[in-house]
Amino acid sequence: MQPTSLRLVPVPMFNDNYLWLLIAPNGNTVAVDVGDYDVLDTYLQAHQLTLTTVLITHHHRDHTAGLPELKKKHPHVPIYGSATITGITHVVNGGDIFTIADIGRLLVLDISGHTKIHLAFYQLTEKILFCSDCLFSAGCGRIFDGDPVSFYQSIQKISLLADDTRLCAAHEYTLSNLEFALAVEPDNISMQQHQQRCTVLRQQNQPTLPTRLGDEKHYNPFLRCHLLGQRIRLLTGEPCENGQHAFTALRRYKNTWQAETLVK
Ligand SMILES: [Zn+2]
Repeated sequence: MQPTSLRLVPVPMFNDNYLWLLIAPNGNTVAVDVGDYDVLDTYLQAHQLTLTTVLITHHHRDHTAGLPELKKKHPHVPIYGSATITGITHVVNGGDIFTIADIGRLLVLDISGHTKIHLAFYQLTEKILFCSDCLFSAGCGRIFDGDPVSFYQSIQKISLLADDTRLCAAHEYTLSNLEFALAVEPDNISMQQHQQRCTVLRQQNQPTLPTRLGDEKHYNPFLRCHLLGQRIRLLTGEPCENGQHAFTALRRYKNTWQAETLVK
């Protein structure tokens, strides 16, 4: 099997989630995060695909609510994820590597911070990272039961992967993220161009994902905190002595900033 023969498909789910599928030439399919079993089942049937593996990144309902139904309909399909999630059949932790037939080797990364435990799955030959609610295009996830120190370390970990890594985020938040990102860096030309591209894509009802890590380094403020300390200090009034401080301040500022725009 040539690695390039895998197909990567984001299937829209709920308002703005994506169910990610990785499909081998023979139709064997990996599904990442099953928030709604019916969405998965409809797609599999319409395209005559065979579900062989499920990967779960974290415990939130929009990533796991379809598991009970999935287990009824596909009792023998392995479900990889953290031991803390109900329904997992194959427990994995950061640093583990496992092989899926027809799909290849996957490295598990611990990218906690959005939640206390959040895993990513990295297809090593194709350089595809299922990063779910950790890193979005031009943004990052909110902090729920995770913490900003872990979150920053997780984003640092992702930034060390190859620049041509495709990032498969779980939400279509790109345009709203770019509004915030441009408030942080109004003169960033890469950011402005990304906004133009993504505006057209969304007008055509096309996903803005996957996105490439090397590109995100130009326009995702949460990958650029180490460069933006002065600016973030100005915006937030918080001391930003290093990347970690700047990240924590910027993440907190975004919560407030969104709230302000909502009441307008
Ligand atoms: Zn989540």
